[in-house]
Amino acid sequence: KSNPACGAEDVVDKRFKKLNVEIYDYYESHTQQEVHFREKEELRRRLERGIREVCSGCHLVLVGSSLSGFGCRGSDADFCLLLTFGEVDQKNHAVHILQVIHRHLRRFSYVCKSFVIQAKVPILRFVDKITGIECDININNITGIRNTHLMKAYSKVDWRVAPLVMWIKHWAKSNGINDASQGTLSSYSIVLLVLHYLQEICSPPVIPSLQKLYPHIFNEHRDVITIQAELEHPALHRSIDFKSENKKSLGELLAGFFSHVSNYPFRQNITSVRLGSSYKMRSDWRLQFLHIEEPFELANVARAVYRDDKYQDILRKFKQAYKIIATDPDCYLEDLLSLET
Ligand code: ATP
Ligand code: MG
Repeated sequence: KSNPACGAEDVVDKRFKKLNVEIYDYYESHTQQEVHFREKEELRRRLERGIREVCSGCHLVLVGSSLSGFGCRGSDADFCLLLTFGEVDQKNHAVHILQVIHRHLRRFSYVCKSFVIQAKVPILRFVDKITGIECDININNITGIRNTHLMKAYSKVDWRVAPLVMWIKHWAKSNGINDASQGTLSSYSIVLLVLHYLQEICSPPVIPSLQKLYPHIFNEHRDVITIQAELEHPALHRSIDFKSENKKSLGELLAGFFSHVSNYPFRQNITSVRLGSSYKMRSDWRLQFLHIEEPFELANVARAVYRDDKYQDILRKFKQAYKIIATDPDCYLEDLLSLET
């Protein structure tokens, strides 16, 4: 029984059997392997050495899907550059440092297709010439280390989480709604949407709020070096113990996800993985189309969706996918990819 999606026959809703098996097969054939992780770790060390020539004493930390358990073989490598001297949290200063690093790395011909993105969290984006891996480097975005640590714990708390998240990310990409630079959803906001669905909408819940259950492990005050050490060490997950009463299959959960997101009043509610529930709009949040709370800061991770046409496109894709599954639960996953608008 290598495929747990085929395992508990008695509890699998037969109507979704095909979807169920396909989601798990996708996960098994696409999830990042140890060899890919080692390649990224090697890349991290090489880049850190190079960057230290202009920023002595810095640390480069791997974050995002390369470590969270939600990564594919071809996922990019997200890095946080930890600098100890002051003022780097000021956006202009961070942009300047990234430009210095950019010039330095280019001189050693490490990088191609490189540029600095001047967003709220500025990013140096490039393709590493040796491995072909796309890289994003930010400066001192400690929240990214905390939330990667949290995402990794969620990916391990129930076996269904990672396969479902990974396939929904793939679905969103194939439907052109997974690109924050184009005004649609970042991968990270999709991950949070799926986790919130598994927490609050599924009954009984598939996963709890880990921040509520283990506040001593997941809080915004913990020392970042300890978190980083835990993130790279398997021991963290031994202290997390949750058994869900929910026995739904991956296929049924996927159908439930599309049903949820096609009818949810996103504009009025804030989706909170921190609380494991949603709550009414805060008066200090500017009305946007989707409100997905960053678990360690009261900020909206879906702020890239600021145009009505993009928001409508996202909703249309959710509704179309749901319509296909609701009409024919015995459909193929492929029927949900590349939907027409
Ligand atoms: P993919 O596999 O598609 O690259 P990902 O899980 O790495 O997906 P990204 O959207 O690339 O997701 O984000 C990478 C990491 O950056 C996230 O895991 C998170 O730690 C951090 N991050 C992204 N967006 C935000 C945000 N708005 N606020 C805080 N941290 C963020
Ligand atoms: Mg990434």
